[in-house]
Amino acid sequence: MSALRWRSVNNHMQSEPEKREMFYEGKAKKLYSTSDPDLVIQYFKDDATAFNAKKRGTIEQKGVINNRMSELFFNLLERAGVPTHFVRRLNDREMLCKRVQIIPVETVVRNIVAGSMARRLGREEGEPLPRPIVEYYYKSDPLDDPLILADHALVFGWATAEELKKVDELALKVNSVLSEFLDQRGILLVDAKYEFGRYHGEVILADEICPDTCRFWDKATREKLDKDRFRRDLGGIEEAYQEMLRRVSPDA
Ligand code: 5GP
Repeated sequence: MSALRWRSVNNHMQSEPEKREMFYEGKAKKLYSTSDPDLVIQYFKDDATAFNAKKRGTIEQKGVINNRMSELFFNLLERAGVPTHFVRRLNDREMLCKRVQIIPVETVVRNIVAGSMARRLGREEGEPLPRPIVEYYYKSDPLDDPLILADHALVFGWATAEELKKVDELALKVNSVLSEFLDQRGILLVDAKYEFGRYHGEVILADEICPDTCRFWDKATREKLDKDRFRRDLGGIEEAYQEMLRRVSPDA
């Protein structure tokens, strides 16, 4: 190895951020700071919760699958021009991410009526929507993430008008890129929840994209391949997560 090559490899090794203390533990993930103040490590757990942690369990290998699937989706979205917090996957359960300040507004994009929308509005689950609908939820465990209007986010200072405009634009772009990609793999993207964060003045996509945060239905059979199998006690949970990973993997 030439001296120059050796030096650059060595520099790279020195610049690899070191894992430091855990500073956040959520229902499905843990976050660790690193020696680089701009980077965090996101660790994916197997723990599963539903209905704001009123129902708890574990889904075997879920963390590994969600880490891998989020990596695939974040890479796809970056290639399509969507800025994300993803830097690279480190191992089976960890990815390196940009440290963002999470905007406390969860954005749900719906293509087909399901879940809380079906219940709230008395619509049949499975009804296709003529165009995607964007909804906002206030990210608050004590309040069970209530549905809000844009005005609530603005008046209570959870996001600025400029940020919400960017969130809308990015959420719809993510929905269209993922819908098309999944459609080619025989999957319907029914709906999904996205979280955005502030990074050096820019709004970027954060969190994870996986069967915990999206509804995926098989296009031919309408079989559910997502966390609804856990929420609704349908069984075959691990198999559904594995099947989703198989469908979206590059060698599928
Ligand atoms: P719904 O409002 O119908 O319960 O959920 C709509 C979509 O957002 C579903 O794909 C669901 O998985 C996702 N979603 C909504 N809230 C949450 C949440 O607090 N955690 C997770 N993991 N997903 C959520």
